[in-house]
Amino acid sequence: MEIQRLIGRSLRAACDLTRLGERTVYIDCDVIQADGGTRTASITGAFAALCIAVDRLLEEGKLVDSPIIRQVAAVSVGVIDDVCTLDLEYAQDSRAQVDMNIVMTRDAKGELGYVEVQGTGEGRSYSRAELDQLLALGEKGCLSLMQAQLDALGSRASVICKKPKLALASNNFGKLRELKQLLGDRYDVYSMRELGVEMDVEENGETFEENALIKAKALMERLGCATLADDSGLCVDQLGGRPGVHSARYCGVHGDDEANNQLLLKELSDKPEPHKAHYGAAVALCRPGREPVTVYGRCDGQIIGEYRGTGGFGYDPLFLSDDLGMTFAEADAEAKNGVSHRARAIQKLIEVLDREDG
Ligand code: IMP
Repeated sequence: MEIQRLIGRSLRAACDLTRLGERTVYIDCDVIQADGGTRTASITGAFAALCIAVDRLLEEGKLVDSPIIRQVAAVSVGVIDDVCTLDLEYAQDSRAQVDMNIVMTRDAKGELGYVEVQGTGEGRSYSRAELDQLLALGEKGCLSLMQAQLDALGSRASVICKKPKLALASNNFGKLRELKQLLGDRYDVYSMRELGVEMDVEENGETFEENALIKAKALMERLGCATLADDSGLCVDQLGGRPGVHSARYCGVHGDDEANNQLLLKELSDKPEPHKAHYGAAVALCRPGREPVTVYGRCDGQIIGEYRGTGGFGYDPLFLSDDLGMTFAEADAEAKNGVSHRARAIQKLIEVLDREDG
């Protein structure tokens, strides 16, 4: 029972259990050939078995993301005739002055950690210097076992620290490229088209946050993987925050930028300048088994009475940015992305994810 619990604990340390769903993986450890160190050999072997099981579940489409976020291996070390020794045989083990089991992990960044260091002085105590030496030997042993696991697993080793899938609730190429750049070290980012999904969700929320969440949730229900959605728009102070969530269809026709801009100018024509305004963007991240995260970014400026510049899209020729001192249509893409509402929201999301990672 003690060994079973140790093996389970070690394998759980390798996993993000939220990605496993409501599923239990049973691994039966029969030590067929061993000469001492059976419990550590069981952990090292069980990890390889877990990888094979996960590989099959992914292949069969029963899992969307690999739950294995760390590699795990274990080895025994000890002191025999006052000499620190790696991987004791049974004959050594039975007369060891110090006997120790070490279970180690290695994450995607290559950082090592311990699940268990369990060492006993048998008949004598051990010194700090011996402990340091034993830990160094244990690390050497675990690293070489991790290499052996990778060699044995071959292509199936790709399930170790495999980035989870993130689906963007949009087919907008610009957004996709930006997101791949910003979140690519954490996620494999795909557009809906790349995943073969078509979805039209009614954005009936009253805020950008509500709409972003509606889209991200709907897509996660469809695909089962992590999803990200954004919703953005222009809010003009003198219009009580309009067009707001209706920005894309302000004039009544979805996506008619020219008609939207003309209506905006008409509505502001009898109002005194400056027409203060901001772009707002909400970004929602939904992940299976976890609470959704929503963040908000904004950039301030004013609406001017004439078009300036030809870049950007939507209301950009009329939006004079406080940060840039020019309209978003006059700014190049890099300058706009440096201060834009969407970039600021995504920056906040990255801060949240960084905090989660500790
Ligand atoms: P969506 O969030 O991509 O659906 O954008 C909603 C609408 O808000 C767009 O169709 C534009 O009218 C407006 N909008 C959002 N962000 C921007 C921007 O950066 N520049 C110009 N218009 C924008």
